[in-house]
Amino acid sequence: MSESTAQRTPTSIHVSASQRNDLGPTLVDRIKQALPLAQFVSQHTELKPAGKGEMVGCCMLHEEKTASFHVNTEKNIYHCKGCGAAGNVIQLFAALNDLSATDAKIALGKQLGVYKERALDTGEALLSNATRLYMEQLGRKPNAMAYLESRGLQRATMEKFGVGFCWGREYMDLKPDQQALAQSAGLMREETKKSWLAGRITFPVRDKNGRVVGFGGRLVPSDDYVPHGPKYMNTPETAYFKKSELLYGLYEASMGIGRAGRAIVVEGYMDVLMQHQHGVDNVVAVMGAQASENAFKQLWQVTKNVVFCLDPDAAGEKGALRSVMAAAPTMTDGCTISIATMPAGVDPDEFTLEHGAEAFKALCDQGVPLAKYLMASRIDQFDLSAAEGRAGLIMAAREIGATFSSAPLVAEQLEEEARAVCAAALVESVLRKMELPKYLDQREVEMAAQMLTRLIPDVPRQSGRDRIAQIRKQALERRSASPR
Ligand SMILES: [Zn+2]
Repeated sequence: MSESTAQRTPTSIHVSASQRNDLGPTLVDRIKQALPLAQFVSQHTELKPAGKGEMVGCCMLHEEKTASFHVNTEKNIYHCKGCGAAGNVIQLFAALNDLSATDAKIALGKQLGVYKERALDTGEALLSNATRLYMEQLGRKPNAMAYLESRGLQRATMEKFGVGFCWGREYMDLKPDQQALAQSAGLMREETKKSWLAGRITFPVRDKNGRVVGFGGRLVPSDDYVPHGPKYMNTPETAYFKKSELLYGLYEASMGIGRAGRAIVVEGYMDVLMQHQHGVDNVVAVMGAQASENAFKQLWQVTKNVVFCLDPDAAGEKGALRSVMAAAPTMTDGCTISIATMPAGVDPDEFTLEHGAEAFKALCDQGVPLAKYLMASRIDQFDLSAAEGRAGLIMAAREIGATFSSAPLVAEQLEEEARAVCAAALVESVLRKMELPKYLDQREVEMAAQMLTRLIPDVPRQSGRDRIAQIRKQALERRSASPR
């Protein structure tokens, strides 16, 4: 930020500690306040009362004769039962004028006189300003640019995601009250006055409305400007930046998720950028090592289907498991989760770079369903050849199932999966105990299987029987292959 920018801003701001956590009305809030939705809709179509807090009129987004455009005057949102359009006053303005949400927000804000141009009197404005500033600076940092290009990233992708570079002295010359704001926005360190992400490539993190709330930063390899620190770090938690409630790329991916009918969750910023660049535009990343409950609540608002695609290392697997467990309480019946595994040693971005988008999508199609994945992660803890071990696994399934409190179907699937695994283990252990060395009569196998079915009558019909049949078939094939 230049000296002149700082001087242009009002000098009367005083930021107290309590105000630091007070976001103040955002542009969106100011627009909503200045223009109630019903008032805006009435400029285009006649609205009639339709029950408490509801008004209805003919939709202006599709041709119709009977009114199906509903306005909720309390929440200031609309929903058309004819064409399915839904949103708030800004989204309606965007749809009517064929604008992006961001452009609509600015245009409407200006019309209403509530858009404060270049005002750096809020942390929100500073964050947005920092995004532009860092983007400009990237052009003057050749080795950062060279690194990004060496990873296969194109300029257009960098621009779409606002990739930039932070030198470190951006906030040093600001006035004290401006510096206080920069601190509260997580941009500047209090002690050194240096930027949080000094010497790093910057990735702005947006909330679901597209507002920049914080940054991720990556060291430039072979750059000795910043001699230490982790490879990746984020700006700190602030009133704006609550990492546990965010998924990186959700704003940029929301259209793609709608089109694809599912979201793909990967681990890193670079993975998201690479996938989007290859046309897989429904990809988001967990912030940190795992996604949290709150992040999932946002994800379920845009899709019912989630595929995890994490790095094929131990950390990735642990992260996937923890993320899935974080999703548990937020899942409802009808939501699906599957877990796709990358080939050993290959990150999602490398995979797509080498094999292309279609291969990556196909890999995601083959994800393991949630119940199967969760049970597989627990099998090693039990000796399934013993009755206690099998009972333990079923107990574990029930325990895990209990965490899916709003998705009883998932709990059922878990127990069914556990019983199927146990039935298979029982058959295997009995066959082994029978010590059938070389010769095995088909009749004997039949009897063994029948006995097992009697022993465990509550084996779930489908999967249990299928599993026994499968093992039986394998055993028979083995027997018939061995010389008599
Ligand atoms: Zn409509």
